[in-house]
Amino acid sequence: MNFNTIIEPFRIKSVERILLTTEAERRDFLREAHFNPFLLRSGQVIIDLLTDSGTSAMSSEQWAGMMRGDESYAGASSWQRMETAVRDLTDYPYILPTHQGRAAEHLLYTRIGGPGKVFISNTHFDTTRANIEFSGATAIDCPAPEGLQPETYHPFKGNLDTVKLREYIGRYGAANIAAVILTVTNNSGGGQPASMANAREVSEICKSNGIRFILDACRIAENAWFIRQREPGFDKKSCRDIAKEMFSLADGCVFSAKKDALANIGGFLALRDLELAIQCRTVLIITEGYSTYGGLSGRDMEAIAIGLEEVFQEDYLEYRIKSTEYLADKLRRMGVPVLWPAGGHAVYIDAKAFYSHIRPEEYPGQALACELYLKGGIRCCEIGSVMFGKYDEAGRLIPAAMELVRLAIPRRVYTQSHIDYVAEVFTGLLDDRARVHGFRIVSEPPFLRHFTARFERLGN
Ligand SMILES: *Cc1c(COP(=O)(O)O)cnc(C)c1O
Repeated sequence: MNFNTIIEPFRIKSVERILLTTEAERRDFLREAHFNPFLLRSGQVIIDLLTDSGTSAMSSEQWAGMMRGDESYAGASSWQRMETAVRDLTDYPYILPTHQGRAAEHLLYTRIGGPGKVFISNTHFDTTRANIEFSGATAIDCPAPEGLQPETYHPFKGNLDTVKLREYIGRYGAANIAAVILTVTNNSGGGQPASMANAREVSEICKSNGIRFILDACRIAENAWFIRQREPGFDKKSCRDIAKEMFSLADGCVFSAKKDALANIGGFLALRDLELAIQCRTVLIITEGYSTYGGLSGRDMEAIAIGLEEVFQEDYLEYRIKSTEYLADKLRRMGVPVLWPAGGHAVYIDAKAFYSHIRPEEYPGQALACELYLKGGIRCCEIGSVMFGKYDEAGRLIPAAMELVRLAIPRRVYTQSHIDYVAEVFTGLLDDRARVHGFRIVSEPPFLRHFTARFERLGN
């Protein structure tokens, strides 16, 4: 028999209370947070879809591992367990633990970056871009054209545009390209997967030009599931073997364990190049911690080692991707402009289409994020001109390519009825569209402004 109900392949052993607030209360909370959902307190939120990062529910096995955590300063058994888990998966010889993904990025990109250097990626994630630009280097996004068409189906919208990649190599010179980074899945490009064929082609181009090829592998398990479903020749392979094959194509990876390691904190950098690993390890010890813990406690490393195994369980991945698809499908049938097909960890709404009367300069994505909170207590994240907009010399906004709002689904946290509630909130938002106004930024920092910027509502 085929069932339509998505059965969560786990049962709940411990619960966390959600406070149900009223719209009037939320109106005050939002004003106090300067219309930036990042500035809300978590207790003010009913369904928190801000991020899937570090928000996973851990398994009883992981919690058991936490009790076993070896907190020795050097050579802890928990580190050996994490190192073995990472090496078995990636096959990279040099593994550096870090407190999260961006610390791994910082170690690597400040070593190989700097003024005059160029990085090319399918899409740089925000912390990736910030670390690269902070080093003085330039980050160029090079997504395949399919990835920029929100509502047309393509199985691998996360691909890197290899035609453009060759052009860029010609323009900047291979020696000036610090790395090509393939982000799987492509978080800022909609959580869309990259195909093995694309990874292979990128790898070949990099090899023949002597350019370093790095995987931003945070969601490689989810990416592997898409490859198995959609790419010819992979339907009989395990997701773990698919991921291993992808790792084999690159020279190393950065990894946030807060995503596909089902942990609440942690990350790592893994490399093939000994010389580079030694350089990064020196900075690791200065800035993060000794090389066998890198800012993590022993119990965190246990949770990561176990999470890296669990995330490749096929029933977990099936449930994971199906439940994201379920929300996207439901919204799409209601007439919400959804990035199609659904990403692995999140549903992305095309806010430019949803609020077609709000210009990018007035941040339609921010408007949608604020409405979702106000009407339903749902917290989510703008991925558009607030996150990626730049200013020209006259101080005018250069908008991002897309104005998206991301509903990120924490792993193993919410049930199908929570997700049904989210869809219901959208019904109200659809009816109310014309009455919603855009926003103006009243203060912002120079880097990663979406975290702390303050806004003012226009048109009141
Ligand atoms: C989350 C993320 C990072 C950064 O990892 P943190 O653990 O949040 O520092 C880098 N790249 C991608 C694609 C991510 O999703």
